[in-house]
Amino acid sequence: MRSADFETIVVEHPADKVVRIVLNRPDARNAQSFRLLYELNAALDRAAQDDGISAVILAATGPHFSSGHDLRDTEKLTDLQSDVVGTWCGFGCAGAEARMAVEKEMYLGLSERWRNLPKPTIAQVQGKVIAGGLMLVWPCDLIVASEDAQFLDNTVTMGVSGAEWFNHPFELGVRKAKEMLFTADYVSAADAHRLGMVNHVVAAGELASFTLGLALRIVQKPLFALKLAKEAVNAAQDNQGRWNAMQTSFALHQLCHSHNQQVHGSLIDPGFVQRKH
Ligand code: ZN
Repeated sequence: MRSADFETIVVEHPADKVVRIVLNRPDARNAQSFRLLYELNAALDRAAQDDGISAVILAATGPHFSSGHDLRDTEKLTDLQSDVVGTWCGFGCAGAEARMAVEKEMYLGLSERWRNLPKPTIAQVQGKVIAGGLMLVWPCDLIVASEDAQFLDNTVTMGVSGAEWFNHPFELGVRKAKEMLFTADYVSAADAHRLGMVNHVVAAGELASFTLGLALRIVQKPLFALKLAKEAVNAAQDNQGRWNAMQTSFALHQLCHSHNQQVHGSLIDPGFVQRKH
């Protein structure tokens, strides 16, 4: 996939050694169509392979960072199959097999790839980040939020046990993770900062400049040491059981989809529309 072909993201070079990838579907509140996810993945891969880049900023246009998975997306993963990056298969199969395959590749797989990108990544977040949107923000190493940023996982309201890349307990701690899921209330930027989920909260007008300033400080360091520092922290988290726990939560998530399909004939509980978050 060539940069010139990107339709849903913009790739910028705001400074030496820094690439800024901008989600650019503001009319859809940066909902994650298949195309957006794979264009983002391609841009991140390119940043990783470019030895002249030492840090990546992930930003978004418009008032909100991302409204989550694009439920109106008509494209199928089978349409984009040349871009599949995992080793799973069966995207065109029937029932739970296809659903699991698609989500294992596109949600669990992509977010995990991005989390393991061998360069520092910084999410630059404004407005609402809903459900699947968390799976773009959380894989980043650092998060800078504007004061108006809010974070929500409303999947329980839809009869599902949490977003696919289930990092909630590691982001927020066990109690707040449960409250976030049980109530489907927004977590404010201030609360996210207090709990360690967000590194910095800044005024909306300073969000881009502050984030770039942070990146500029990072890129002055030796890249190999940055890569290995990231590996070391990620390894510490994985040795706490993060990845194994995520396999369990992904299986439970798939059980929810299968249950909803059997009971309601759809992947999510249709009563969701009447329920407030
Ligand atoms: Zn799902």
